[in-house]
Amino acid sequence: MPGTVWQTVESVKKFAAIEAGGTKFVCGVGSGPDDLVTTVIPTTSPDETMTRCLAFFRTQGALAAIGIGSFGPVDLNPASPTWGHITTTPKAGWQYTDLAGAFSQALGIPVGFDTDVNAAALAEVRWGAARGLENCVYLTVGTGIGGGAVVNGQLVHGLIHPEMGHIRIPHDFAADPFTGNCPFHGDCLEGLAAGPAMQARWGAKAAELPPDHPAWKLEARYLALAVANFVFTLSPQRVILGGGVMQQTHLFPLIHTELTAMLNQYLQAPQILSGMHEYVVPPGLGGRSGLLGALALAHEALR
Ligand code: ADP
Ligand code: ZN
Repeated sequence: MPGTVWQTVESVKKFAAIEAGGTKFVCGVGSGPDDLVTTVIPTTSPDETMTRCLAFFRTQGALAAIGIGSFGPVDLNPASPTWGHITTTPKAGWQYTDLAGAFSQALGIPVGFDTDVNAAALAEVRWGAARGLENCVYLTVGTGIGGGAVVNGQLVHGLIHPEMGHIRIPHDFAADPFTGNCPFHGDCLEGLAAGPAMQARWGAKAAELPPDHPAWKLEARYLALAVANFVFTLSPQRVILGGGVMQQTHLFPLIHTELTAMLNQYLQAPQILSGMHEYVVPPGLGGRSGLLGALALAHEALR
């Protein structure tokens, strides 16, 4: 039989994917990074948003499974009656919305469900900047700060799921009098370093602050402190920093310098001692990590 090609199940079937965010739902259909049709639906009410997503998926032919990476908090406990729901979100109208069950039932296909940032970490391990690694951390620095982690090849869940944006980091009020704007914790990492915190502290949008503004050295310090904590606790083989604020690529060398000084040669790994520029990196999949992660969750659901 000439030219027999063995293909993985992922490459012969079409899957649905949703990156569910507070401002938009990005929907995709395809099999992988080189085969993905997408559409963007604004996040309005749960009913309207989900109806519009379903209308898109129904134009796409047979779908094998769906994966959803969602804003949170979400319920990831398979034994819970509210598994697959968004839970206590401050987003009006979305408290205790069943996402996974609703899409799975409406389309009659299996569903994979996780946080948006865990999904992004999974995609980066499968296709992106952490390809081939068993341990990585993905941090997004945008409207909020969130983190996903792959440890020993598995996404980290736990009691609920990690909320890496809300860790406490040293805050020198003499150097930075801004009290922080997390509604729950004030000056947690998100309260000090997410995009809205930068805007509140400096009186201008992060995107409008020039590269030589002191905002960036402070931002790099906070992010390096956070990364140091994740390096010490989870021992990732690579750390990926994405999200709107990280569009400022001059942050990377600043973070590398701060982090190198903080770790202070304690961790004797070449990746840290001489390869920092390849250790803390932007997403290999650019802005598509979340959606492709949802696609990877769909693959997992079928398995
Ligand atoms: P979201 O977190 O809502 O999914 P983003 O990751 O784009 O979306 O994050 C939005 C935040 O990132 C805003 O606070 C915005 O000010 C900031 N941001 C977006 N683009 C840039 C940029 N090019 N430079 C600096 N900050 C940016
Ligand atoms: Zn917080």
